[in-house]
Amino acid sequence: MRAGGSDPIREAARILAERGNVVVLTGAGISVESGIPSFRGSQGMWAKYDPMEYATLHAFMQSPRKVWEMLAEMVSVCGGAKPNAAHRGLAALEEMGVARAVITQNVDGLHQAAGSRRVIEYHGNLDELICVSCWKRYPTRDRWTPGSVPLCDCGEILKPNVVLFGEPIPWLAQEQAEEEARTCGVLLVIGTSAQVSPACDIPRIAKESGAAVVEINPEPTPLTASVTDIHLRGTASGVIGAMVRMFHDPDMRSPKG
Ligand code: NAD
Ligand code: ZN
Repeated sequence: MRAGGSDPIREAARILAERGNVVVLTGAGISVESGIPSFRGSQGMWAKYDPMEYATLHAFMQSPRKVWEMLAEMVSVCGGAKPNAAHRGLAALEEMGVARAVITQNVDGLHQAAGSRRVIEYHGNLDELICVSCWKRYPTRDRWTPGSVPLCDCGEILKPNVVLFGEPIPWLAQEQAEEEARTCGVLLVIGTSAQVSPACDIPRIAKESGAAVVEINPEPTPLTASVTDIHLRGTASGVIGAMVRMFHDPDMRSPKG
């Protein structure tokens, strides 16, 4: 299935409406327009911080103060960011009964801030800190201020409750994400380079279970030629904004929701 007519966004919106049961998978690209850099690319975080030195559990256990240089930047950038038109558009599609869930690899909380209700956080959230020694948890705002390293009551340096390389996916999030992928009619994949495992398996699970896969990304990814049915080559806000306008036309609404 390739985008047929002259307007691939309309073609994709029709597939969403006809099949229903739309599940969304998002990555860092959807938050770029909120001012949060993605990881890959020349403006990405990895251009500044080598992931092997700053984003693995091993690195955190070895040198938590050094890893907090990168984490502090993420916490302050994400803390000041606001949802953009793409986050708001996905919340609107849920409200209209078009989309039923968002699985996000992002740790910025912007889907919830935009009003999405069913959000599966595959890689955790920066809003919470956890002690790797006694497992006590704290809201980030209660323990962290810029320039400091947050400490647990037991004296250990706290880690954001996000998944670093070398850590497992939270069990419930992984179960729920795979269930959504196995049972959706369409998987809408937005702003992910699909290079982080096991998140990059979700589109394949959906496809093998019979779903159509629609990808929104200005660039092709490893999914584009293998799993994706329709690649909408544009920004998340541009494409989602156009889709939401199309769904305001009552003829487009899916009876299946
Ligand atoms: P990535 O950085 O590997 O890839 C970003 C993708 O977004 C690229 O394919 C790029 O072409 C695309 N993109 C860029 N601008 C876009 C736009 N305006 N609209 C749509 N797409 C756009 O991101 P990833 O695949 O999510 O993997 C990075 C990992 O790092 C994830 O696990 C994520 O948890 C984490 N991360 C999270 C945030 C956040 O919470 N906002 C930010 C950076 C990284
Ligand atoms: Zn502790």
